[in-house]
Amino acid sequence: MKKKANEQKPTIFTIFGGTGDLAARKLIPALYNLFLDGYMPKEFTIVGLGRTEYNDESYKEVLLDGLNKYSRSGVADPAKWGEFSSNIIYLQSDASKEKTYKDLEQIIADRDEQWAEAATVIHYLSVAPQFFPVISEYISKIKMAGGKEKCRIVIEKPFGRDLETAKELNELLQSLFDESQIYRIDHYLGKETVQNMMAFRFANALFEPIWNRNFIEHVQISVTEDIGIEDRGGYYDGSGALRDMLQNHILQVLCLVAMEPPVSFNADEVRNRRVDVLKAIRRFGPEEVKHNAVRGQYAGGWVGGKEVNGYREEKGVDPNSNTETFCAFKFFIDNWRWQNVPFYVRTGKRMHQKSSVISIQFKDVPHPIFPSHASENWQQNRLIISIQPEMSIRLQVQAKRPGLDMILNPVDMVFDYDGTYPKESPEAYETLLLDAMEGDQTLFMRGDQVEAAWELLMPVIDNWEGRKSLNFPNYPADSWGPEIAEALIAKDGFHWFTMPVKSKSKKK
Ligand code: NAD
Repeated sequence: MKKKANEQKPTIFTIFGGTGDLAARKLIPALYNLFLDGYMPKEFTIVGLGRTEYNDESYKEVLLDGLNKYSRSGVADPAKWGEFSSNIIYLQSDASKEKTYKDLEQIIADRDEQWAEAATVIHYLSVAPQFFPVISEYISKIKMAGGKEKCRIVIEKPFGRDLETAKELNELLQSLFDESQIYRIDHYLGKETVQNMMAFRFANALFEPIWNRNFIEHVQISVTEDIGIEDRGGYYDGSGALRDMLQNHILQVLCLVAMEPPVSFNADEVRNRRVDVLKAIRRFGPEEVKHNAVRGQYAGGWVGGKEVNGYREEKGVDPNSNTETFCAFKFFIDNWRWQNVPFYVRTGKRMHQKSSVISIQFKDVPHPIFPSHASENWQQNRLIISIQPEMSIRLQVQAKRPGLDMILNPVDMVFDYDGTYPKESPEAYETLLLDAMEGDQTLFMRGDQVEAAWELLMPVIDNWEGRKSLNFPNYPADSWGPEIAEALIAKDGFHWFTMPVKSKSKKK
């Protein structure tokens, strides 16, 4: 059980990048909602660090603005915000200057003197990755009253931009901290429906016997966004869909679908089983890349009656950019459970719909007994786990349509989060920040996991970066991606699953 306020240890959060977008949109709203729900410790301090000139009061005003816009709990209650924000201070600072850390050390020492117990200090690195090394080196030198075990460091994505840089960062962090102090965040793992994969698979006896190559025909994981790159051109053009979405979020979801049952819910047991999946995914040789991985880049078009730019016309993007805004892969997992079961994954921007969906298609019945007119709408059984915008699990089965004739029709047995649990679920960042406070690393990525994901993708990165794509842009805005992605799956006799659009969708 998560500890409530009176059981939580005194905590200091330092947010490097405290004036940035992530802090305003996600981190402060998450901490505030934890406070409203009674999970913040009685004694806590949030130290926002940034270069902008603010004092505590003007900094809090900016945070309140962000909170009112982005928090799931809506506009803040003035009294509650007053109480929460009395624990926030601002430190105008340069992350690469020693003085910043002297100041921080003083703040920590002051709190330790005032509070009954030495604080747990969580340093959240919400800054561009080039600052990760300098900040972590300085942090490792700060004197903590409670010693090293009371100091944790949370690292945002991207964790490296290839295997070599991820290894370098891991080596540096592991030379400064114990692995138990390092929290590599992948916010997808904090999403309610993603966490529910573990519950669904390992708390029900029903699915495990059929969760393998004997019953499952193929698996799809599709994470599509309807927006373009917005004002993130500078960042995105050096990254692309593979690095931004596939290397982290999609592979982590794939691990949860494919992992073996862990012996317990212990963080390392769970993470061991996730790493096993990454290690078992079949590597692509240089020749296999083109048969198993495809890329795309969006052209301009019309979205909701408005004309939108193509990727190469976006601000901050090279007009001849070779960066992919879409990618799709076919993976095989070489182990007993999954031999010869294809896993298709895709992600892209400016697509027809925003959705994150896992579709698990079961094998067909061994022998059809119904006449062809009865089974015109035939659909093999399918389990559809929707992460967003709808949070649901649907089991598609065939049923008889009411009437005098035997006509079969697929119907859904649905577990809908919103319908079942009217209270809004916590945001992923709430879950993950609370876990970091409690020292629970289950939903964070271990160093070897990140490296295994990069190692798997390096042949594709090398191939794509060494070979300019001649047909970019190759899919229009508001489409389902390039034709080659359809071909990737169609040549095996399947098609991409798309979630029917619901009229009412909740923002998550
Ligand atoms: P941002 O550009 O909005 O903010 C960057 C922050 O870094 C600012 O607070 C700025 O003051 C600070 N900074 C820059 N140079 C500094 C220096 N020399 N000393 C001290 N502070 C300095 O970036 P962001 O969108 O908030 O993203 C932060 C990190 O989180 C990045 O690693 C990004 O990849 C990651 N991330 C962001 C999002 C998001 O939704 N914004 C999502 C996932 C991951």
